[in-house]
Amino acid sequence: MAKDRLASVLERWEAVIGLEIHTELTTLNTKMFCGCPVAFGGEPNTRVCPVCLGMPGALPVPNQAAIEATVLAGLATNCEIAEWSQFHRKNYFYPDMPKNYQISQYDLPFCVDGFVEIDIEPEGAPQRPDRDGAYTTHIGITRIHLEEDTGKMIHVGGSEGRISGATHSLVDFNRAGTGLIELVSEPDIRTPEEARRFAQKLRLIWLTLGISDCNMEEGSMRVDANVSVRPRGESEFGTKAEVKNMNSFKALHDALAYEIVRQAEELESGGRVVQETRHWDAGAKRTSSLRSKEEAHDYRYFPEPDMVPFEFTAEWIESVRATLSELPDEKKKRLIATYGIPVHDATVLTGEDLDMAEFFEAAVTISGPERAKAVSNVMLNDLSMHLNAAGIGVAESKVVPSMVAELVALVDEGTISSKQAKEVFAEMAETGDAPGAIVELRGMKQVSDTGAIEEIVDRVLVANPGQVEQYRGGKTGIIGYFVGQVMREMGGQANPKVVNEVLARKLAE
Ligand code: ADP
Ligand code: ZN
Ligand code: MG
Repeated sequence: MAKDRLASVLERWEAVIGLEIHTELTTLNTKMFCGCPVAFGGEPNTRVCPVCLGMPGALPVPNQAAIEATVLAGLATNCEIAEWSQFHRKNYFYPDMPKNYQISQYDLPFCVDGFVEIDIEPEGAPQRPDRDGAYTTHIGITRIHLEEDTGKMIHVGGSEGRISGATHSLVDFNRAGTGLIELVSEPDIRTPEEARRFAQKLRLIWLTLGISDCNMEEGSMRVDANVSVRPRGESEFGTKAEVKNMNSFKALHDALAYEIVRQAEELESGGRVVQETRHWDAGAKRTSSLRSKEEAHDYRYFPEPDMVPFEFTAEWIESVRATLSELPDEKKKRLIATYGIPVHDATVLTGEDLDMAEFFEAAVTISGPERAKAVSNVMLNDLSMHLNAAGIGVAESKVVPSMVAELVALVDEGTISSKQAKEVFAEMAETGDAPGAIVELRGMKQVSDTGAIEEIVDRVLVANPGQVEQYRGGKTGIIGYFVGQVMREMGGQANPKVVNEVLARKLAE
């Protein structure tokens, strides 16, 4: 969908968005209520037992590590941790759920009332004033609760993965019973970009905590978006639709952009928005109606009778808090304070994945803190461009921290020019060779030897008496012409700083 269509709709309408994010606790050894292993893939129905298959008489035993992971998630997102909590049964019928109910949480979730800050940069990025009239990037979190995941249906025949046209369906219970945390946000999000950044931020926090691999393609992190629109200036919320099936951050953004335009145009043409669940079709780039929305009473929640309620002591909560790792916001502040890099640099280094900041600190340990900004420059420019072009993360790249440290040193010491550094970077990204070796092999060493440069400068000045005249007559801008000539004579390998110095000195004689 054209971007300008969204922009024009957003002039008249304001979107209201709340996200529901399910994250599988993939890093745990075992499932939520049994001892079956947690692992992606595997022969269907091999990682199962009477408990996760819902056999009569099998009893659930809660996984303490999963409860700790949920409390950690709550503490990392500024939630209050319940002192008193319990599991409920959520009853519904679907073939991928062997018990015909899901053990979940209802009115007593483990974590409530938190928030996350997101970074929305001033230029171009959408911002909005909050109740105090200040600009905010504060997204409220209603709750985080723990439940068990369902199995997986596989529809066979017809078109891949689709129910329509399928001749039969298979079910794989390997995933059934895996610990799953559900986070519900407040309707505080106003644009698709804010939604994307919020979800990305949460992913980064979960990764920092090590509670999940957060793989959206494999479905270990699943984002459902509730969205409505209201005329600008209106304080009442409009009727919302829930959009599902986005398996990347881009899909989340695009599905919301589509849905906002659809709802606004529907209302402008005199129609109305129906409260329903809609399905994002990434191929067709549109949402379509899936089913009307269930209400809480449809699920007939009642307390899980096979488990006693939980009582968390303040000491226990504090003992979990003590295990919190450094969170992305803290890391960002520390990088700014420790290395003196600009806020923008620290935001990029800590804002997308954990590996970038780790790479940066490893490189700076080698290069020394005085070269931190130079390391950051290479990472934000050359390295990011290379990663984007190759469609890989920094961990998959042949470029390692020591190479960036070495490259920065070569430029800083005047061995190569910053222009040559770009070439060296491209080559080291392709071959994985160390920059020093590339410079050696390609004979790229920049000439900083003043004697050699003086010789060429003399020759260039003798060959261009007219230009020398002009320079001495006051047209000093012409020095660039001489620099160009000297560079050409020296095959681009002269240190431009030294060339400029020698030229200025000789021309002043
Ligand atoms: P429901 O009762 O339909 O489940 P909830 O109030 O529990 O609705 O909210 C579910 C999600 O939808 C939350 O993330 C919430 O922030 C969001 N939400 C609630 N009302 C709206 C609205 N009018 N427009 C957009 N999102 C909304
Ligand atoms: Zn099991
Ligand atoms: Mg609800």
